Amino acid sequence: MDASVSPLACPHCASTNVVGYGGIKGQAITDLPSDGKPTVVVIDRRRYRCNACRKTFLERLIGIDENRSITRRLITHVEQQCLFRPFLTIAKDVALAESTIRNIFNEYVARLDKSIHFATPVWLGIDEIHAVNKPRYILANIHKLTIIDMLEDLKPETIERSIGKIQDKGIIKSVAVCLDDACLDTVRALLPGASISLGKTYIVNSILRLLNDMRKTVRANLQWNESRYLAHDKEILLNRYDMLTDSEKECVKKWEGGFKKLIIAYWLKESICELLNKADKQYFMSEYLRWENDVLADGIKEFNPFLDMVNKWQREIFALFDYPVPDDYIEAVEKFRGAMKGLSRGYSFNAVRAKILSADELRSEDGICIVKLTELLKTGQF
Ligand SMILES: [Zn+2]
Repeated sequence: MDASVSPLACPHCASTNVVGYGGIKGQAITDLPSDGKPTVVVIDRRRYRCNACRKTFLERLIGIDENRSITRRLITHVEQQCLFRPFLTIAKDVALAESTIRNIFNEYVARLDKSIHFATPVWLGIDEIHAVNKPRYILANIHKLTIIDMLEDLKPETIERSIGKIQDKGIIKSVAVCLDDACLDTVRALLPGASISLGKTYIVNSILRLLNDMRKTVRANLQWNESRYLAHDKEILLNRYDMLTDSEKECVKKWEGGFKKLIIAYWLKESICELLNKADKQYFMSEYLRWENDVLADGIKEFNPFLDMVNKWQREIFALFDYPVPDDYIEAVEKFRGAMKGLSRGYSFNAVRAKILSADELRSEDGICIVKLTELLKTGQF
């Protein structure tokens, strides 16, 4: 193959006063695989010297990544392949190092992030999902049922980076989040003008976690022959009473004898869940105080972290009643969460994210349609 373009100017100083210098040099360039085999082409390139700055350089080539000695069309091919296949497999197919594939992909993601801008939502949702073996966050437009970003981890700095990219943050009037302490602090600091509400799911999960810890401690202190009394305790205690079968309800009653404190905690969990389902803010506020007193009077110290949390995030929890998150959004995220669980292994999270954010058929100016994306995931078309 011959180099196609003669140099018009020196790449170092832009002078056009250049002359041929030395012989022709053959350079190996990796190109698209042909017939399923890696392809390397040798291109003859002339060397030139600039009379102005005295530096030498090779003849310019079109369609070549000079730093990596590979063709641009191979780069485009690798970028697309990364969305579907593991880096190592691609590396073998095209005869490049896995690290090169990774770098090409990272550059692609960086370009994608720069080029994609969705409209700023009036109502921003931040929810946890489990994707590619780890918990992650999604940022969503609650009114439009769209995803505007997916975050690799649950770190406050990752949230900060993502919210930092949003233009005209003043447009965001409210934020519904299911976030831990540190992330909630970050969001409150970044969006001081927005009303932030802490999600019901997060609050319920907090109390369930504490009840589960209590249950484990009780179990750990049982003799081996006593543990059979607590059969199916996890499924029963972490479930809502209304959802239990008659025999499970019997178990709860039976346990009141031997495991009184645990069952008191169970009923306290039930009443706070019930309370959260009441739509009225005033009612919640007054009943919560009563509930808190019950926890203290019953001596359930294990729930202290929950009391502390409600104390710290009072405003955000009460806001839950002012800005109830619409059911269609909750349902859409729940279904998406389930569909993401089914995504097969072998993908990197960044590849999944890039594929989602770059999917034209799912995208509008408001983001990626959650419902359509869930459909594709479910039917295995993604
Ligand atoms: Zn020069």
